[in-house]
Order: sequence, then structure tokens, then C-alpha cells
Amino acid sequence: MKMKAAMMYGPNDIRVEMVERPSCPIDGLVLKIMAVGLCGSDIRNLTYQIGDRLFLFPGTYCMECDDCISGHSENCTNVEKDLAGTGGFAQYVAVSGRKIQLGGIYHIPEDVTFEAASLGEPLTSVYACLENIRVGYGDTLVIIGAGPIGCFMAQLAKLRGAQTVIMVDINEKRLEMSREFGVDHLVNSAEKDPIEAVNQLTGRLGADKVISANPSNAAQAQSIFMVKKGGIVVFFGGVPKGSLTEIDTNYIHYSNIWIKGHFGASYIQSKRAYELAIDKNFPSHKFITHKLPLDKINDGIELTRSGEAIKVVLLPQD
Ligand SMILES: [Zn+2]
Repeated sequence: MKMKAAMMYGPNDIRVEMVERPSCPIDGLVLKIMAVGLCGSDIRNLTYQIGDRLFLFPGTYCMECDDCISGHSENCTNVEKDLAGTGGFAQYVAVSGRKIQLGGIYHIPEDVTFEAASLGEPLTSVYACLENIRVGYGDTLVIIGAGPIGCFMAQLAKLRGAQTVIMVDINEKRLEMSREFGVDHLVNSAEKDPIEAVNQLTGRLGADKVISANPSNAAQAQSIFMVKKGGIVVFFGGVPKGSLTEIDTNYIHYSNIWIKGHFGASYIQSKRAYELAIDKNFPSHKFITHKLPLDKINDGIELTRSGEAIKVVLLPQD
């Protein structure tokens, strides 16, 4: 049997084609994909029925190594390639029995839309980052990068009680859209010096925490001058492969700055983030600006790239 799937042949070469539907692993299942976000209960013992509404968490972890056992499955190096499934930009995906045993499949409640549930994935990393650096009551947080991740961060920071969120970006359209998510101050770094702007907004003290959530080396270098003494800087976004960031380490040393990298989420953080995504009080509809059929995947990529969209969700069955 055939199905539609988006195949990647190279950079900027994604084609929607008819391919063989994956066959069902002996101990696994085949999931019909209703909604998949564009970017990126203990139910282990349940039997899945045809027609169940399920969420597939794409992360991989073994739950056997020291990192996994100690609660840091995001650092698992023991990953099995096929654990995440055969690829989400398609009409069906095969899920192995092992993935099900490891708790990588969650039920979607009847009153939650597939689109809202699909936010459970991008939300995981953001949820984990803000929890790890304990963004909380009274904090002033700077987020550099008003893309979908930056918008999730602003919303979650406010839910956690942050007092002030300052959003920095070079794209005015993105900045304006981020207002929706509780951002208090917008700084267009193409028009003014973002370090000076943050210093002015914080009474020259600097922010408690600064997160660089964008692919720019320059933003990483600037971020350390936006944080207060003893504050935390997080490098959340990956920069172009092989590029290096030049950083004033003396300034970091004398200012007692903590610098932290962030990638992924532990198993329990992923689960909590999913529960947040499907919570009635979480404004998932505000993040999903575009819903497109799978055939329009390239339009979705362009909408994301230009800053016109916050989150594009693809609906492979449309
Ligand atoms: Zn592991």
C-alpha cells in the first residue's frame, strides 16, 4: 500500500511523493499521522486499539544507561536509530515495540485537537530549559530570538512567574507577534544596540537570566553582557556547524557568570511538557498560525523562515 510522504533529497529539496506504507513491526504499531509540527501516564502496559488517538515522542533513550537511570535521558548515548519511528512528515509511521515499552507513546484525550497535541514536541526542550535554570517568580529574563521557541519561552516564563520578559530579535514582524505571549519589552537589535537596551531596561544591573535561542554566534557573544553578575546565560540555539563564538572570558570570570548549554529534555520533562501542551488552559491556538496539508510543506518552510508564521502544523491526512 502507498502513502504520501515528504522526502528530503538535500538542502531546500523536499518533495512530497507516494512511497510504500511502513509495515507493522511484529511487536509495534503503525500510527496514522493527523498533525505534525514543522521544525522538530504510565501507559507502557496498555494495549493499543485501532482508532486510538496517540502522540509519538520522537526522542530516543534506552532507560538502561547511567544517564537514563539518573533522570537525564536527554544525555543518553545508547540510542537506537529506529526508535523514533520512520519519519513524521508522512501519512503513517511505524513504531517499534521497544519504543512503546520505553513509554514513547502517549494517549491524546478526546477533547484535545491533534494540532494542540503536536506542540508537545517543540515544547519539551523549552520546558526543560526553563526548569533547569529555575526561571521563576521575580525573574527578569532576556530571550534573544522571537521565533516559535522564543515565543514558547516567553509564555512558559510568565506561567512560571517571571516578572519581566525582554525579547530581542532583528525581525520586526517576529517581535510584534511575540507580544501575544506575555513579552514586556521588545528590542529590535537591527535598529539599536541590544546590550545598551537591556542595560537601560534593567537599571544597568543586567537580567537574571539570558537565553540565546537563535543560530547567531554574535548573539551568543552579546548575551554575556546582558546578564547581571552571577546570572545565567544559556546557549539554547545551535549555531552553524563548525563556527566558533568569540567570548570575553575575563568578563565572565570577574562577573561570576554561569554559561550553560541546553539541548533536549529528560523523559519526565518531556511527559510534563506534553501534559502542558494538552492542558485546556494552555493557549496552543495562539502558537499555531498556519495549518497546511503535507503537499504544502515547502510553503510551510518559507512561512517559518520569513517570520510570517509562528508554528506551522502539517496535516498529512488533508
Ligand atoms: Zn540511556
